[in-house]
Amino acid sequence: MTAGDLHRFSFDGLPVRGAVVRLTASWQEALRRRATVGPFPSAVRALLGEMSAAGALMQSAIKFDGALVLQLKGDGPLRMAVAEVTSGLSFRATAQVVDTIEGAADLDAMVNVDGGGRCAITLDPRDRPAGKLPYQGIVPLEDAGGVAMRRLSDALEFYMLQSEQLATRFVLAANDEVAAGLMLQHMPPGADAERHERPDPHRPHAEFERLAMLGASLTAEELLGLAPGEILHRLFWAEQLRQYQPREVAFACSCSRARVQGMLVGLGRAEVEDIIAERGEVEVGCDFCGEHYRFDAVDVGGLFTPARDQPGSTDTVQ
Ligand SMILES: [Zn+2]
Repeated sequence: MTAGDLHRFSFDGLPVRGAVVRLTASWQEALRRRATVGPFPSAVRALLGEMSAAGALMQSAIKFDGALVLQLKGDGPLRMAVAEVTSGLSFRATAQVVDTIEGAADLDAMVNVDGGGRCAITLDPRDRPAGKLPYQGIVPLEDAGGVAMRRLSDALEFYMLQSEQLATRFVLAANDEVAAGLMLQHMPPGADAERHERPDPHRPHAEFERLAMLGASLTAEELLGLAPGEILHRLFWAEQLRQYQPREVAFACSCSRARVQGMLVGLGRAEVEDIIAERGEVEVGCDFCGEHYRFDAVDVGGLFTPARDQPGSTDTVQ
């Protein structure tokens, strides 16, 4: 099996498919870029790594052209965390930290202090018409019995079951060198699991549970330390495993000067000219990649030529 970051697989004759991902250089680059804006606490870095790995796993399992956005919002010291993965498997991630986060804080302690935490997944098509909202599913960070979820994997498994009716297992782990994950998914009767065969609708769910238990035996150390091929061999050596061409996963940010210009136009002429009057320039930094965009008075004047000025923008408010 050739190298590659993301390996998809299925089991011959069983309605189960999965993928294993291991991000190294791309993950280190994401952290390095972000550190130029301001580094995150280690628990947040680990969570963002898990979110990036999980986003890549989920994106690889759907037929969709656009961005999969995995977002956590909450009421704790971590107000928001987001990982975005395109169908070309490039990713970016960032977070908003509003208070101290000590050591290895779990998901509950970071985003669900008063039970307001949410996990949202948005599928944003590349060709989405302006004004049309993308598809979004949201679940709370506690199960039906009110038990809080301490790990991202718990939240994602709950999400997949609630929103997609798919039994799924995730094993996720990340440190500053590696962000990695394993996903196993039960394909419901009738679903087009893979091109070569359709699952038997009468096959008991027990096969998925059996493979999920094998998957769950994977430790964080193994996940972080072993190559995808080794992981699959270690877990599923006794299975009829079918592996697909591995894919690369890269760090990439979709920010651009044109997008920032659009944002400034949306902000309105008066607001932007106020900033120019105060500081001499407008500087916008990208939270994902650390890129800085600067606009001086001449640039700003060019943004608000009559043709591009927005009627009803804040410049009518004195
Ligand atoms: Zn950026």
